[in-house]
Amino acid sequence: MSTILVIGAGGVSSVAVHKMAMNTEIFSDIHLASRTKSKCDSIAESVKARTGQGVSTYAIDAEEVPAMVNLIRKVQPSLVVNLALPYQDLPIMDACLEAGVSYLDTANYEPKDEAKFEYHWQWAYHDRFKDAGLMALLGSGFDPGVTSVFTMWLKKHKLKTIRQLDILDCNGGDHGQAFATNFNPEINIREVTAAARHWENGEFIETPALGTKVEFDFEAVGTKNMYMMYHEELESLSKFIPELERGRFWMTFGDEYIKHLTVLQNVGMTGIDPIKYQGKEIIPLQFLAAVLPKPETLGETTKGKTNIGVIATGESLDGSGEKTFYINNICDHEDAYEETGNQAVSYTTGVPAMIGSAMMLTSKWSGDGVFNMEQLDPDPFMDMLSAHGLPWNVKELDGPVEF
Ligand code: NDP
Repeated sequence: MSTILVIGAGGVSSVAVHKMAMNTEIFSDIHLASRTKSKCDSIAESVKARTGQGVSTYAIDAEEVPAMVNLIRKVQPSLVVNLALPYQDLPIMDACLEAGVSYLDTANYEPKDEAKFEYHWQWAYHDRFKDAGLMALLGSGFDPGVTSVFTMWLKKHKLKTIRQLDILDCNGGDHGQAFATNFNPEINIREVTAAARHWENGEFIETPALGTKVEFDFEAVGTKNMYMMYHEELESLSKFIPELERGRFWMTFGDEYIKHLTVLQNVGMTGIDPIKYQGKEIIPLQFLAAVLPKPETLGETTKGKTNIGVIATGESLDGSGEKTFYINNICDHEDAYEETGNQAVSYTTGVPAMIGSAMMLTSKWSGDGVFNMEQLDPDPFMDMLSAHGLPWNVKELDGPVEF
């Protein structure tokens, strides 16, 4: 029985709050605050209609630390769940420290003026959380999040070492729009247009954005082009799996998405440096994000499945030589929409946010300081994944990946 305060009222938050309300034995008192209160209210209405549970709502600018501290003191939650944007990670962590409450998020901090997402800003909070006897859990979404838990489950149950790791994120969904992103457009486009980086023999190798493409046949989706990208879990995985020789992250994009993105980049619409427009400073990418479809509106029309997983090669635990395993989840957009009113990209992030919160509130995961998912026991998290809408499957492959 716990009181929880969720910050942010987008697609990911909507799923997490619906799933929390379906688990009242853990989340008995749910509070939701975001910049636009009406968005919190519409999530609360949907939760009431679907589950019968009430959700208290508030307006907050999470970058205003004193206001956040006041809200936390008023609600008195056991945990603050940050499902706003990566820009708000540090102010919300500051507020949690000041008010004496633990913290969870799904994406690592990014400064607004530089498309650079790295853990060092949040890892720097470790001693302060430790000294305060509080826990901060970073990256409890799908990727990062489940992908790290999948990897550590393989390391616990199948492989003594992991030599090679490939994370494969496929969204086979079709929303019927010429160009739209499945989560926050600004964050998504910053991520996709950043240079690719992968881990190889102790260092990150940088290559041009979307410069490496391979075809892969995804179960339940079919053959798709996937592109090598940088993704934040490569930083934590390479830290917590010291023997890792190569770690890469791949995401699928359709030809239409790439075509639109290329044009938008070429005309300067994805830029994050301010420009003057009619006497006012605007950031082209923020303007673009404002005109693109809102991710939370895509649920109704999106059909198809996501298939996200991890392929790992290493020395087998049973001493039978080198082995390769593929562990993944397949999630159906229409099923996700029917259950929570949101498409599968929000669903596959919101469910792990709920599970990470449950791990902390039930003390299955505990500790003082700042933690990544790799540092905690994968088993209870994996059990909850299967029980709460994201079943997973593991199979042995014939050998290491050949791409
Ligand atoms: P949305 O843009 O749909 O929602 C973000 C919400 O945060 C909005 O309600 C927004 O308010 C609110 N917000 C923004 N700024 C502030 C602020 N200063 N104070 C309070 N609230 C604020 O994003 P998503 O739901 O798609 O994504 C949420 C998070 O999940 C992001 O950090 C994203 O990077 C992460 N993510 C992680 C994934 C993973 O697998 N780990 C995958 C997908 C997303 P308003 O409505 O007023 O703009």
